[in-house]
Amino acid sequence: MFNFGRKNGKSNGNNDNAHHHLIELRQVVKRYETAAGAFTALKGIDLTIEAGEFVAIIGKSGSGKSTLINMITGIDRPSEGEVFVRGTAVHELDEGKMAEWRGTEIGIIFQFFQLLPTLTVIENVMLPMEFCNLYNRKQRRERALDLLEMMDVAEHAHKLPNALSGGQQQRVAIARALANDPPLLVADEPTGNLDSRTANAVFALFEQLVAEGKTIVMVTHDDDLASRVTRALMVHDGQIVDELRQAQDYIAHQPIPEVEEIAAK
Ligand code: ADP
Ligand code: MG
Repeated sequence: MFNFGRKNGKSNGNNDNAHHHLIELRQVVKRYETAAGAFTALKGIDLTIEAGEFVAIIGKSGSGKSTLINMITGIDRPSEGEVFVRGTAVHELDEGKMAEWRGTEIGIIFQFFQLLPTLTVIENVMLPMEFCNLYNRKQRRERALDLLEMMDVAEHAHKLPNALSGGQQQRVAIARALANDPPLLVADEPTGNLDSRTANAVFALFEQLVAEGKTIVMVTHDDDLASRVTRALMVHDGQIVDELRQAQDYIAHQPIPEVEEIAAK
């Protein structure tokens, strides 16, 4: 199996002891100023996510799913409240610190892949390592190739992204998200632009990554995929209104009744 190489140890002087949860949102409010006045997209979100969880964020279009995960990645900032990821107060990071923190702590996967079109596939995957100055030149190339191999797109390493299909580009984007071995992957409708077979393959990769110890938070419109995660959070009108935890672990540990027992009933 692929070796992720870098230990997921404590990171850059963060106060890991102060917060036990991998992710903690406290009373997060997000208001957008619009021409029509202030619009409240998140209305006081309290949420904790533990290491090793595979969480789906579900809900109608416009309910606040992207806004919610943008609070976790620091792509957007809360108007009120606090966001902690592995003990880092994300809402307090300045732009420079934010980019550095995000580069090592989070892998982000978007619906439309967002690969740089003028760089080759392998260059796209090496970019986060260069940006964060992790590994040496030789290791970066080897690591990028290993990740592309793992995602089954290594044969396309030296092509430009637009020579690849949507599913292949998304697998490259996942390789890029894993480049710096972040403990947390955050994905906004990662299968939203893929056919169902390709979506399933991408989802299976996520399941494998969770089995290997990553934590994944994924926005999805796909009920079928949402039913296969360990926890689904339903967002409605800027609030988390429902939560489903899968019974599959429980069911998996129940003894299967003997045929005789069933026949005797
Ligand atoms: P979802 O991802 O669930 O479709 P979003 O989080 O993107 O929803 O958006 C939630 C609400 O916030 C929507 O009504 C959207 O129009 C509004 N919104 C999102 N981003 C902005 C913005 N930058 N300015 C103003 N309103 C926004
Ligand atoms: Mg969205």
